[in-house]
Amino acid sequence: TKSTVIITGASSGLGLATAKVLADSGEWHVIMACRDFLKAERAAKSVGMPKENYTVMHCDLSSLNSVKQFVDNFRRSGRPLDVLVCNAAVYLPTAKEPRYTADGFELSVGTNHLGHFLLANLLMEDIQHKENNNSRRVIIVGSITGNTNTVAGNVPPKANLGDLRGLAGGLDGVRSSVMIDGGEFDGAKAYKDSKVCNMLTMQEMHRRFHEKTGVTFASLYPGCIATTGLFREHYSLFRTLFPPFQKYITKGYVSEEESGRRLAQVVSDPSMNKSGVYWSWNNQSGSFENELSQEASDAEKAKKLWEVSEKLVGLA
Ligand code: NDP
Repeated sequence: TKSTVIITGASSGLGLATAKVLADSGEWHVIMACRDFLKAERAAKSVGMPKENYTVMHCDLSSLNSVKQFVDNFRRSGRPLDVLVCNAAVYLPTAKEPRYTADGFELSVGTNHLGHFLLANLLMEDIQHKENNNSRRVIIVGSITGNTNTVAGNVPPKANLGDLRGLAGGLDGVRSSVMIDGGEFDGAKAYKDSKVCNMLTMQEMHRRFHEKTGVTFASLYPGCIATTGLFREHYSLFRTLFPPFQKYITKGYVSEEESGRRLAQVVSDPSMNKSGVYWSWNNQSGSFENELSQEASDAEKAKKLWEVSEKLVGLA
């Protein structure tokens, strides 16, 4: 029988490329957890995914209610869950003013971190299902840009969660700041901060649940997929120059297809079942266990982030 994987944001870019690899393998049923149902259906058809190997289910990560409804719908499908991939993200590098989720959180951290934080926590119940003996994994897509131990991570504005005072205040700009560290709104920084949250969450889940449940927790940097919709809100000159810059200057460029193969490996490859790892790839030797920046591997911060996030999404 086929294993089941949920992929958020599978309607474009990395998520779609990964869904395609897994659906084509015939070994997976892919639940495409997407905010735009029609777009996701069309995307799946346009890349030729076999229709018996996927289901689109509505999930808008910028609404905690929608996340809960998605979990209910998934449970009603009766499929045992093997792997969850938290992939969806928004990036608002040119925004002058913050935008907000349905629950009033700054949009990038609210979607990329808090929506996935709630989803992953709720689905831990499903992924531990006893009849399910396959290797079970929770994968949260990270990024080099949140890692200040890299060149890319040192392009300003740098990620910095500070003491989380803005997040603890609710990220609503009324009672506190819209930024996690309590600073002024900066869309590019909010995205990088959200990616640090993703990487911290993966490690905190590993510490809290791996031994008890046997579930594997992993994050990854799939390479610079300079052509995806992630850059849709960037200046058009940037969108023109970024792919060749990544291809010929930094050489960090990967195609959407290649990035999809990488993430699909983290989902299904028996050799990538180690928990607590942040995977990266180099062109010569393939995948390797990469190191995270000091902030993205700070266990104290991960714990604090967990406790604050639990309160914000209503789990504590
Ligand atoms: P895309 O913009 O192509 O894909 C993002 C996906 O997230 C889309 O399917 C989008 O849906 C979905 N999404 C956005 N908001 C929501 C929401 N509120 N609810 C549900 N889904 C939502 O970008 P990428 O494929 O590049 O990004 C995928 C992941 O890869 C992200 O986590 C990103 O941080 C990461 N990444 C990307 C890199 C790159 O170079 N591109 C590098 C490193 C990491 P819709 O189709 O409806 O817009």
